[in-house]
Amino acid sequence: YFITFEGLDGSGKTTQLRLLAASLTAAGRNVVTLRQPGGTALGDRIRGILLDSRSEASLGPIAPATEMALMFADRAQAIAEIIEPALASGSIVLCDRYTDSSEAYQGGGRQLGSERILAMHAAACGNLQPDLTLLLLPSLEGSLRRARRRNQRHTRQQGTDENRFERESDEFYRRIYDKYEEIAAREPRRVHPIRDEAPIEEIHTHILEIVSTRLGA
Ligand code: C5P
Ligand code: MG
Repeated sequence: YFITFEGLDGSGKTTQLRLLAASLTAAGRNVVTLRQPGGTALGDRIRGILLDSRSEASLGPIAPATEMALMFADRAQAIAEIIEPALASGSIVLCDRYTDSSEAYQGGGRQLGSERILAMHAAACGNLQPDLTLLLLPSLEGSLRRARRRNQRHTRQQGTDENRFERESDEFYRRIYDKYEEIAAREPRRVHPIRDEAPIEEIHTHILEIVSTRLGA
């Protein structure tokens, strides 16, 4: 069973993924987790190119289509190395971002449009779709506040931005948010939006209910 977590930076994906992994593991399930970009040795190198603000200094600005292609190169490798073998062995795969992120960020944010992303998904991923996508969609304002606070903390501690995306404009994030809404409306059977601003534990309980129902447990 293949589950992805989606949402803006600062929406709580990583936290909720960890909590779900712990609960499923405690219930005796085999769970494999990964994040995108990253997760494989190659993917972690691609993540460095895409997110490390220092790479801009050495490589110059990354064109939107290049960004898209690198995201899919990372994803194709993760599918081959991790996701398909794990699914074949009956594990539950939990992935922090997947193709919906490309559609939202490169398709919406960078304005490449959904069609190019979905064509790339077919070519690079053989159209492998999650069985369930948990889309964390609290308010845009709250997500931005959390993401920017985290980035400032990181900049103070490490002297570099956590990632260059967190310097983008509010309009960029608005386009991403709207694209996520569009995906949710288009694929209501797969995509489950969670809009509450509830405490972490409550959202976790909600997610666990959704997943248990889907797994038939
Ligand atoms: O929070 P996370 O570790 O997933 O952050 C990865 C970063 O990569 C985010 O800032 C997100 O904005 C960016 N990203 C992107 N396009 C994707 C996936 C991630 O711009 N397809
Ligand atoms: Mg995260």
